[in-house]
This record gives sequence, structure tokens and C-alpha cells, in this order.
Amino acid sequence: MGAFVQPLLTWFRLQGRQLPWRQSYDPYHVWISEIMLQQTQMERGVAYFLRWVRRFADVQAVAAASEQEILKYWEGLGYYARARNLHRAAREMAAHFGGRVPCDYQTLLSLPGIGPYTAAAIASVAGQQDVAVVDANVLRLFARLFDIARPVSERQCRAEVETLAAGHLPVGQARAYNQALMDLGGLICTPKRPRCTDCPIAAWCLARQRGTVSVRPLPGKRRAPVYLTRVAALIVADGRLFLQQRPAAAVWGGLWEFPGGELVEGDSPSTALPGKVLAACGLSVEIRQTIPPVSHQYTHHRVTLHGFICRIRAGGPRQPNCPDAAAWQWVALADLHRFPFPAGPRKLLAAVRQGLAAESC
Ligand code: SF4
Repeated sequence: MGAFVQPLLTWFRLQGRQLPWRQSYDPYHVWISEIMLQQTQMERGVAYFLRWVRRFADVQAVAAASEQEILKYWEGLGYYARARNLHRAAREMAAHFGGRVPCDYQTLLSLPGIGPYTAAAIASVAGQQDVAVVDANVLRLFARLFDIARPVSERQCRAEVETLAAGHLPVGQARAYNQALMDLGGLICTPKRPRCTDCPIAAWCLARQRGTVSVRPLPGKRRAPVYLTRVAALIVADGRLFLQQRPAAAVWGGLWEFPGGELVEGDSPSTALPGKVLAACGLSVEIRQTIPPVSHQYTHHRVTLHGFICRIRAGGPRQPNCPDAAAWQWVALADLHRFPFPAGPRKLLAAVRQGLAAESC
């Protein structure tokens, strides 16, 4: 155990975050929080966690729910494969583990959606097994503490930090040690402007001693953003809205959207729309109303989405045919709240609720 560990643990005891899953360390709560907090800011993660456990009190409740309801409760968190895997894992736990979250590192690794990081987090925080957890906060913290001159995105850097984190783990105190490191990285040793004067382990920080804090960790290569422009039709007929479901293996798999497609440079959104819609769902439409474009992003993609409220063209085909969709449905406006949507369609819907109601009359 390194000399910095005791001050770190004392700081955590006095100033660690008060989080809902830290009240009882119930393995179910720890598991849900760990999956939700990947790629999610803490405040947002806490709000989703509280809503989730109000609806799904335990593993059995998750296992018994439909995938659509799981996705609905995940809606807005992104990275929906996490939710689908969580659902599958809950069903395995219900079938093979008596409806409990196992707390053994190796057993956890056998479950869908649980990799080495999540297994270590659950095993140490819920099960108090002596395994070290290395997340983005811990990577950054150790890169500074030990003045590691490699980008943290590099495999060698991660391996080095994993060795250091495991080597300094105080036996029998993995729960506190791992959470203390994650909290210190999230609250004090932040990506920008770390609060070194408030840091309980500043005396051991090599980057601080050498004046390299501002250049640690070294930046890795970033993927250049890809800009996409898409169109989508909110087709209204007989008071219902047409939705199609994305295939399970696609991005946003299992979520619902409006038919449309991607534009190429030079395409006019309103001119291109009918052809894109016909190809996507076999319906011939005419535009009734233009919705102000919305934008959203996923991974390195930046999407501008042009939406239009449409009707089926008189005399055009009325039977949908969606070659790339998992399913389609005509849905009453009052039932839309039951369907999970990716960010783009969700923003379009929010922008046009009144227009849709008027059009469907
Ligand atoms: S002294 Fe500063 S850079 Fe070093 S670990 Fe503490 S907050 Fe991070």
C-alpha cells in the first residue's frame, strides 16, 4: 500500500459523494448504477437511477419487463446496447442465480454487458473482493500521480495504471479504495483545472512536483467529427402516426423512429423526402408542415435532422413495406409515450406535438 492511500481513504470517509446506491451497497443497486454511469454524467445518472429503482425494485422486476419498457426507461441515456444487455443479464440472473446479482468477479464476467471494468466495480463495491477498478477518472488521476507520459487511450498506459491501482490496493478495503479514487478523479483531479490545493494526496503527486499537471494526461488521437444530414416524415393518417422500429443489431436497436433517410450534398430536404420515405416504408407522402431542423450527436457523428409532418398522397400505396425495419405500427398520439425514441425523433416529436394534434383531427 502506497503512502498516499491512507490520506485518500480518510478524505473519502469525510468527503466522498453521498450516492443513493452507497446507502446499503445492495448488489442490484450497484450493478444498475455501474451500467448507467458509463458515458453518463453523475447528476444525470443519479436521476435515472432513482427513477429506475422506483419502477424496477429488483432483478426479477427487470427480468419480467418487456424490452420496450426497459428501453423506455433508458431513453435519453444513449448507448442502448447497455440497456438490452442489462435486460438479458437480469433474465440470466433470474434463471440461474436465484434472482440475485452475483458478486464474484469471474462469475460476473460471464453475464451479458459486464466486462472487466464493471465486474471489478461490482465485485469490489458490492462484494468487497480485492480487485482494483480503473475507469476514466482513475486513469487520469494515476497519469498525474505517477506522471505517466503516455496518452491514457493507449493500451500500455491502461495496463500500467491497472498494475499501479492493483499494487496500491489496501487488502480488505477495495470498496473504499476504488470509490475514493473515482471520487477524487471526479471531484478534485478533474480533467480541466484540477483543484490541487484541495487534494489530499498532493504531497505524493509527481506531476505536481514536476510541473506537468497541465500536460497530464497526454491527449490521445481524436476521431474527426462526421457531419450527417437526414430527413424524416411524421406521417399522420386517421389520427395515428406511423412508426418503424430499428433492427436489434443496428445503432439504437429496438428503438422507434420515423421513415426517412440520409441526404447527400446538394440534396434539398423537402425535395428528397418523398423518395427517401417511399424507399424506407413504401408509402407515398406529401408534406403538410415543415418542422424546424433539430440536431443531435452520437459517438463522433453530428446529425442535422429535417422533419416534416406529412400525409399519404391521394391514390398512393397505403400498405407499408419496410425492408430495413424490425417492425412498424400506426400509433395513436396518446400512446406515443410508451415508445422509446432515439434523440433525433424525440426532439422532432417534442417540437411538433401541437402541430401533430391539429393534423390528426
Ligand atoms: S495534486 Fe493535483 S494533479 Fe495531482 S492528483 Fe491531486 S489534483 Fe490531481
